[in-house]
Amino acid sequence: MLIMKFGGSSLSDARCVAQVAALVAQARATDPELVVVVSAMAGATNALFAAARAACSNREAARERLEALRARHEEAARALLQTPQELEAALSTLAGHIDDVARYCDSIATLGEASVRTLDLVAGAGERLSSTLLAARLREAGVAAEAVPATELIVSDAHFGAAEPVLEASRPRVQARLWPLVRRGAVPVVTGYIAATADGVPTTLGRGGSDFTAAILGACLDAGAVWIWTDVDGILTADPNIVAEARTLAELSYADAATLAAFGAEVLHPKTVAPLVERGIPLQLLNTFHPTHPGTRIVRQPALDGPRPPAIISTRGLRLLEVAGNGGCWTTAVAGRALSALAGASVEVLMFSQSFSERTLSLLVRQSEAEASLAALEREFSDDLARGLLAEVTCLSQVGTISVVGGAGRDGATLVPKTFAALGRLDAQIVSVAQSVSEYHVSVVVPEEQVDDTVRFIHRELNT
Ligand code: ASP
Ligand code: MG
Repeated sequence: MLIMKFGGSSLSDARCVAQVAALVAQARATDPELVVVVSAMAGATNALFAAARAACSNREAARERLEALRARHEEAARALLQTPQELEAALSTLAGHIDDVARYCDSIATLGEASVRTLDLVAGAGERLSSTLLAARLREAGVAAEAVPATELIVSDAHFGAAEPVLEASRPRVQARLWPLVRRGAVPVVTGYIAATADGVPTTLGRGGSDFTAAILGACLDAGAVWIWTDVDGILTADPNIVAEARTLAELSYADAATLAAFGAEVLHPKTVAPLVERGIPLQLLNTFHPTHPGTRIVRQPALDGPRPPAIISTRGLRLLEVAGNGGCWTTAVAGRALSALAGASVEVLMFSQSFSERTLSLLVRQSEAEASLAALEREFSDDLARGLLAEVTCLSQVGTISVVGGAGRDGATLVPKTFAALGRLDAQIVSVAQSVSEYHVSVVVPEEQVDDTVRFIHRELNT
């Protein structure tokens, strides 16, 4: 049994979906036991969140966003499907999903607020839409396929926005639903990212959670391998769009891959390796647009043992929020309240730090969530601001992060000083620093426009 998962950039338009269908058909020719997992089309999940948040204050703005999403999926369906029955069926399924979301947004508009539970209902629609498109395309290409919502398969806790799967409860459901399909020669096209509580209430596994879905299904089905298809050649020493000399890390241990993912290597969701470890299921990261490249293989014990070069992980499009104290009455409770308020708004805080001397709290969030974050913080602290207990809550300029993650055993103790020495030579402006207990990793926040130059410089310095 092989699990193949395709990310949003592999499904960004009709041409990409057709390419994915071709890869699935090809894989099925050699491995008839195949399960496919899909993310939403690139940007669709962000658009759904934006619609839900817009609905809180502006019903019409939410509608407009949903209509744009409907048009995008309908256009893809028309380009992908020639058979009138397939096209008609797909259009009606797509319309059903969008209409559901429109109803949820109407309730949000009526209430004037969106709970994390409702946000999960809305956010999960992207995968329902993309799985409908891919399954239909596969059938058109002569490959039996069925779109399967993971709400029927994966049981999770009720931690909306970042639910934890319950593997023991999911295993029998996954097997009972997917094996009959596979035995009958069909390819299940399962929605990534979503699950449901034991009572059937839809949840999501957290942003980027489709990788995790693939691993959960792999564990539940005792798969021989899980392949994750993205738009880069696996995990590299740096982003190849920034550093031309970046090299693919051919093989990594589960532990090493989990660390890189935790530092924001966007090709892999941090929780993905955990379900695979116990059964020793190998994970392969491949490039949809360069399928002959072997990518990165993640296993328990890499055959090519020995030190690996450090990897530089950079992220752009982030925003630093600041909660500033007003002299005396600062307590650490401010941090607790800020984090809870953001969790309540389904915002993921990527990094945070509190300075003693200045009595400020800095929180790093995605640009797309900056407005919602600021609103949540202003709501939480409105009373404190009015009473002058806090000075202000602000949204600072756009930033990026750069993390240098070494492989244990190589240059350990010198990696962090070398990185700082390089930053010093470049005269880079560092907004914030986070260093872990380990001497193998360090992260810095820099102004967004300086990310690329800084990454190129550090990559050169560390690889000489
Ligand atoms: N579509 C979801 C997201 O954008 C899940 C994923 O892509 O893995 O976060
Ligand atoms: Mg992803």
